[in-house]
Amino acid sequence: MAGNLKNGRIPVIAANWKMNKTLAEAIDFMRGLNREAGKFRGIEIVVCPPFPVLHPAVKANGEDSRVSVAAQNLHHEDKGAFTGEVSGACLKSVGCSYAIVGHSERRQYFNETDDLVNAKAKAAARNGLKTIMCVGETLVERERGMTFDIIERQVRTGLSGLGAETVSTMVIAYEPVWAIGTGRASSPQMAEECHRFIRGLMEDMLGAAVSEKVRIQYGGSVSPENIADFIAMNDIDGALVGGASLALESFLEILKRTSKILN
Ligand code: PEP
Repeated sequence: MAGNLKNGRIPVIAANWKMNKTLAEAIDFMRGLNREAGKFRGIEIVVCPPFPVLHPAVKANGEDSRVSVAAQNLHHEDKGAFTGEVSGACLKSVGCSYAIVGHSERRQYFNETDDLVNAKAKAAARNGLKTIMCVGETLVERERGMTFDIIERQVRTGLSGLGAETVSTMVIAYEPVWAIGTGRASSPQMAEECHRFIRGLMEDMLGAAVSEKVRIQYGGSVSPENIADFIAMNDIDGALVGGASLALESFLEILKRTSKILN
């Protein structure tokens, strides 16, 4: 593993299935992924299924799996009268290791604010879940020259009050909204610029030791064809993959090409 570390960080490749896959499809995928996962020892592999499939996915992993399971969302309270919501405690109890917070689809379609994202990150930490916190600008924001202001607001508010120990375990996903699901990925250089900016912000907030530990993934139309160019960048520590993670072959190809760059 040590030989594959990127600047001391283990790259993390996560499959975000969004609202896709039935139980049978999910189990098939998890079994197939586990058969191959041993080949990608230098990569942390995470799969983010819909809520009802989380526990079956953990079960399909079996003992000593190299694949972690993440929820795509959680509620910011630990329990109570919140019909339709799922708590961090419940996610932890079914074997999740991570929860995504602040995905742009949650921000856009469910009006999630930076303060709510921060409350969700705190709920995850309280319940022993690591967080994948998504940040990123819309096309209009980029065109207006607001990219760094938006990212700074999302990172500073999202991480507010979390503390060095918790933040060190987190993954930040830089996902320009205009690149998500559009087939129009950012250039690796443009993404790297934002990743460096995010790492600088974290250094300012929590010091160099923390900022050097935090993994910053790129997300937005990642595919087998472009993954290597992202992984080759100094501050890009993996990817959050949507569409190209739905077919096992395509997700395995992303892992394979990541692995090749690391070796
Ligand atoms: C995502 O779901 O976070 C994502 C980046 O999707 P896609 O890879 O399809 O752009």
